[in-house]
Amino acid sequence: MKMLKVVLVVADGLGDRPVPKLGMKTPLELVDFSIVADLLHKSAVGLWDPIQPGVRPGSDTAHLALFGVNPLNNYPGRGPFEAIGAGAILHPGDIAFRGNFATVDKSMTVIDRRAGRSIPEAKQLVKYLNENIGEIDGVKVEIYHATEHRVAVVFRGTSLSDAVSDTDPHTEGVKVLESKPLVGSEEAERMARIVNIFTRRVYELLSACPLNSKRVEKGVPPANVILLRGAGKMVKYPKFSERRDVNLRKAVAISATALVKGVCALLGFETVTPRGATGGVDSDIMAKARAAVDFYKQDYDLIYVHVKGTDSASHDGNPEAKVGVIERTLKGISYIVDRVDLGEVVISFLGDHATPVTVKDHTSDPVPVMVYAPGILADGFSKLTERDARKGSLGRLRNTELFGVLMDYSGRAEKFGA
Ligand code: ZN
Ligand code: ZN
Repeated sequence: MKMLKVVLVVADGLGDRPVPKLGMKTPLELVDFSIVADLLHKSAVGLWDPIQPGVRPGSDTAHLALFGVNPLNNYPGRGPFEAIGAGAILHPGDIAFRGNFATVDKSMTVIDRRAGRSIPEAKQLVKYLNENIGEIDGVKVEIYHATEHRVAVVFRGTSLSDAVSDTDPHTEGVKVLESKPLVGSEEAERMARIVNIFTRRVYELLSACPLNSKRVEKGVPPANVILLRGAGKMVKYPKFSERRDVNLRKAVAISATALVKGVCALLGFETVTPRGATGGVDSDIMAKARAAVDFYKQDYDLIYVHVKGTDSASHDGNPEAKVGVIERTLKGISYIVDRVDLGEVVISFLGDHATPVTVKDHTSDPVPVMVYAPGILADGFSKLTERDARKGSLGRLRNTELFGVLMDYSGRAEKFGA
């Protein structure tokens, strides 16, 4: 069986719902598809439930499923992926928590769970902590700044457990919680002890930190503690080259989003951020398309292009901006189509999940998918919309099924059976 290259383009949060201010049309229904109409005409179309109906995907879980790893069986919780999204490189066995800078008084009572939310000094505070916190009982501690008051905390050592409770009381006016083991193992007891020492040490360091004295002088609450929640133990994911169900050797992910790059790296992708690619609505999508063509001309089997701006526009509730990012993504696809041999490539365009602009958050609505492959029985659509996709021949694919379809059309799927 001949193996074809696969070019996969995802507009993050592409799926949507009817928008009142668009006359009950979805953003995709306002998009001008003429630039890729020919490709669409030759493609099969359908819907994809990234996880399963009713389960709202994160970009991390959706990407795992997109690349053939069922997140329902292989997800260590948000802690590790929050850390990956903040730039951490995790090893199997690492314990990671999501965390907040918060304000406590001398009795460790939480005054503000977000330390005023605006913490322009956050990156410096994290650096200060990383330089001073040291190891705890032989366990290395790494803190990563995510956004605003949010951080991720990674504990690295041997035989660590994630079966410990949060220190975040999830409310104000009560004391920071002691972390407790959730199972009766020695590892969980030790982990809880380490977490409690961490909390105390962070409080002491941050209380003595000049950056906080300045905050107090300005009348803003000091960021003097980190509240932890959602412990997760990093798992080992199979790299493409180690998998027996597919024949993929080299894959590259073109993205400016740390979380997506992190997930892809776990699965064995090389990751690249071209100049001008920002992850925002202003991102230079053509720079990504040019990079995709460069990699296509090399020996890469799978070239993945990720566009984040559609999701950013959706979280902002801005349908016009979403339409604009989709149209610029289509220009990028058109650029790629003009420079590849359509007899030798599988091209797919889809969203990683729905982020309806009316909801401003991820929902479980299935997302439209387009798959072009040489010789595919095409549906002959000229647009890719939520409504059209319901009538497409791909039907409604779930979780890792879409990856299987792409691998089969590219001649890269192993036969199941004799
Ligand atoms: Zn996403
Ligand atoms: Zn999102």
